[in-house]
Amino acid sequence: MAEWVSTTAVADRNPYWKLELKDSIRLETWSPTLQPIVQKILNDRALNVDDGVALFNEPNLFELGKLALLHKQSMFGQRAYFNSNVHVNQTNICVLACRFCAFRRGKRADDAYALSIENYLEELSKFSPYVNEVHSVGGLHPDWDVDHYAHLFESIRSEFPHLSIKALTAVEIKHLSKLSNLSIRETLIRLKRAGLTSLPGGGAEILDDGIRAVICNGKESSQEYLDIHKTAHQIGLPSNCTMLFGTIESAAQRVEHILKLRDLAAQTHGFQCFVPYPFLPDSSRLPMAQLSTGQEILRVIAASRILLDSIPHIKAYRMNIGDELAELALQFGADDIDGTVQQESIMHLAGSTAPLSHDLQQLSKLVHNAGCIPIKRNTTYTSFEEYNPPRTIKRLPMA
Ligand code: SF4
Repeated sequence: MAEWVSTTAVADRNPYWKLELKDSIRLETWSPTLQPIVQKILNDRALNVDDGVALFNEPNLFELGKLALLHKQSMFGQRAYFNSNVHVNQTNICVLACRFCAFRRGKRADDAYALSIENYLEELSKFSPYVNEVHSVGGLHPDWDVDHYAHLFESIRSEFPHLSIKALTAVEIKHLSKLSNLSIRETLIRLKRAGLTSLPGGGAEILDDGIRAVICNGKESSQEYLDIHKTAHQIGLPSNCTMLFGTIESAAQRVEHILKLRDLAAQTHGFQCFVPYPFLPDSSRLPMAQLSTGQEILRVIAASRILLDSIPHIKAYRMNIGDELAELALQFGADDIDGTVQQESIMHLAGSTAPLSHDLQQLSKLVHNAGCIPIKRNTTYTSFEEYNPPRTIKRLPMA
């Protein structure tokens, strides 16, 4: 099977994608509402908040999807990516209580847990022969400081040297730096030395402090989220970024969020993937929130692809939106469906029913069914391998 490499900043994206895109979009073929945006793209002018809102309000979802798909195809052709990973959520004990969070527990709750390093390694050992990445995020444990996590990462590296470690969201980094009396930079350097490979993007929610005060009071501010990722990029730790949509935000606030990430990515080139995912509401946490519809999820993915020219990959996070919509999203601008995952608590406690038992063959089949070429990637999007699904067994003709 074909294998190749790329750099973190390029992440397998065609460096001439803008030229190819311009060759593939003819102004007069688009609906009148999209034409001003297409004109800006043809003239290399940056899209602004009004353009973003127009994308979110575009009446013709399929035209919007087509424009996003052309962006994706000019960047990656027919390729779509996934990796071979396992999620280990190290603790659900958290000193905060974000209103959207169904995962956190107080220290004395009956179902509170905190995996010791030995238990964590034991859990990981069940999956380590089959994966090349461990993804770990969890609650803000009141006692676990940077030494605890440095020890954990050193132990993972020593026991499972083939694994990349993608761990700790921005708020977890902030919490560790406070507990340890270190700056954000010192904290990240210490963790990188211990073996941390990259940061996941969780915790961005909506980068608007008014919204944050309602849905996740006490979490890092919008600017702190951006600054923590900027510092990570400066010391050579790539990261992902996310958007939790469907709580109480407006279309303009979604667009402002996306453009803040776009502008930081253009400076640092350290964001690899943007992961938008909808809030999965239940009546007790944010009763004013509504479950996003399928068309709304596809619209967010498509608009994100068109707006985010400085971030290479857009993920359809199947743990949250399910396999069927993830497959469809590959035709609406997404180019990545995350990984094998194996076990996951945060989305599933919030109501996700996405299957956890997928292996690489099932993921490649999902990509193939969407009309794309399945590509297995590593954590940092620097190493790639075409991964074709097994041939389907033909049914015997009925006698
Ligand atoms: S989202 Fe994170 S920080 Fe907020 S309560 Fe849940 S675990 Fe804690």
